Amino acid sequence: MKPQGVLLVLSGPSGAGKGTICHRLCEMRPEMAYSVSATTRAPRKGETDGVNYFFVSRQKFQEMITGNDLLEYAEIYGNCYGTPRSYVMDILNQGRDVVLEIDPQGALQVKKTFPDAVFVFIVPPSLDELSKRIYKRGTATEEVIKRRLSAATSELAYASKYDYIIVNDEVEKAANKVGNIIDAERNRAVRTFFIVDEICQNGICEER
Ligand code: 5GP
Repeated sequence: MKPQGVLLVLSGPSGAGKGTICHRLCEMRPEMAYSVSATTRAPRKGETDGVNYFFVSRQKFQEMITGNDLLEYAEIYGNCYGTPRSYVMDILNQGRDVVLEIDPQGALQVKKTFPDAVFVFIVPPSLDELSKRIYKRGTATEEVIKRRLSAATSELAYASKYDYIIVNDEVEKAANKVGNIIDAERNRAVRTFFIVDEICQNGICEER
């Protein structure tokens, strides 16, 4: 028997660097799967359908909700985002780890259905640093940036609902910390107790 993979839920305010950490984590651990979300928002420059997101119409998104195809979903900044259920379940059943990069509304839904999932909240070293990172991206208008900064401040209030809080002052360090969390979680008794069962069932060999 193989333990089920770890379902890692990564959240944090826009600009905290959760996307970069996710990317680095998947590079460091090629066996780790990244769950590509579905969204109704338009693709940004450089984004590819099926890689960054599955870009879908509102109607298609609604059909996914109705068909129970989403593990969780939320409306953020006027757009819908959701996690396709079947991909995540397949990966976990193969014993592989999977990471969801989702907002706290979605994370709280996952917590209800997957109490063994691991919840990590990524925070910037300071709000000043966060605003610099959002400005540096240069992909959003002034109004959108302001909205995201104010949303970021309220999003930080969700941090206490998570199992771990990681400060992203340096991507490499932060990604390593998340990797260490996964390693520890893989050995949790709820995931590994079957090994003790197997040891006991095998008993003691007569020949020595
Ligand atoms: P962006 O539009 O900047 O790519 O993402 C906006 C927000 O949506 C981010 O906080 C991101 O974590 C969140 N998000 C992305 N995919 C999902 C998803 O499948 N479900 C939920 N609940 N949030 C998501």
